[in-house]
Amino acid sequence: MSPGMRLDLSLSATELTRAVVDIPSPSGAESTLADAVEEALTGLGGLRVDRDGDAVVARTGLGRQTRVLLAGHLDTVPVADNLPSRLVDGHLYGCGTSDMKAGVAVMLRLAAALAGSAAPAGPAGSAGVASSAWSGGFVPAHDVTWVFYDNEEVDAVRNGLRRLAANHRDWLDADLALLLEPTSGEIEAGCQGTLRVAVTVPGRRAHSARSWLGENAIHRAAPLLERLASYQPRTVTIDGCVYREGLNAVRITGGVAGNIIPDACEVLVNYRFAPDRDVTQALGHVREALDGFPVELTDSAAGALPGLTAPAAAAFVQAVGRTPVAKYGWTDVARFAALGIPALNYGPGDPNLAHTRDEHVALGLIDAAEDVLHRYLAGPAAGRGRR
Ligand SMILES: [Zn+2]
Repeated sequence: MSPGMRLDLSLSATELTRAVVDIPSPSGAESTLADAVEEALTGLGGLRVDRDGDAVVARTGLGRQTRVLLAGHLDTVPVADNLPSRLVDGHLYGCGTSDMKAGVAVMLRLAAALAGSAAPAGPAGSAGVASSAWSGGFVPAHDVTWVFYDNEEVDAVRNGLRRLAANHRDWLDADLALLLEPTSGEIEAGCQGTLRVAVTVPGRRAHSARSWLGENAIHRAAPLLERLASYQPRTVTIDGCVYREGLNAVRITGGVAGNIIPDACEVLVNYRFAPDRDVTQALGHVREALDGFPVELTDSAAGALPGLTAPAAAAFVQAVGRTPVAKYGWTDVARFAALGIPALNYGPGDPNLAHTRDEHVALGLIDAAEDVLHRYLAGPAAGRGRR
């Protein structure tokens, strides 16, 4: 790694975000950034730092009763002529600023703040931490785990968090996981599930000049499309969060040539479902709704319940002081939910700007997110007198 690729964790939140953004890390090419993160965290002392591929996991071992996990992906979508970053009117522009390097920078700043000021509970905590540079007044109320991972923006099979869960489940132990994905400082709880089914409508092929000899599969798909168009999706409220479902045709294919009556028409249907249903129940519902048509499951991902009744999550909601809202898209919180760990999305980036050429983040939101997380990790009795 070249010296220019070092991350100085004593930089301001703005400058550290900028430094992280300016190390390009499109999915599959995160190693330079992962090296820099690993080196910076190791350099803090007092944290156990582990690595799997381009995922870096750091943990305190203070022997606290609860452990809070902060997670963020290091990768971005492909750069779109929007690096290096630019600072304009209180906003930082560039690939990955919102999704989600501002969140990554906040995680790193918190690691530096805690490692620089917390005192270890014993000679070697539960995670086997050697005490070294731990001195000062700020004592975190929870043990903390930082998870930086690769390949979030690509196919699920490459997802670094999924790999960590398979290879090192114990690294992810926690009472609450916070994903610093862009939420504009809101708490987005749980996430909806998603599944897709292919519905194939058969027909009989014929020359279109003698169409009465055939059966037009595209025309025969009309009742299916009508069924979907008139479908009434559910709205489900869980822990005060409102989840709006949807059942939609997302692709239609059919036709052979300009002079042939088509013998097949395939409609791909996507069901986004509230997390009170698992995949099996959701598929059962789709079969019911599309009764009479052959339904074939092509892919699925379970949702995640908001989990706001878990004590660690409730305390976080209180610390943020905002009413949680439902997460509509699928996110990696569902991976934590599958491990039995309540998980929330909370981050400084703007989700509406993610993946855009014009991607940027408001500097004020970065500071605000760091402040909230710092206060939360300090616990109810602490958190005053910082800055
Ligand atoms: Zn993201």
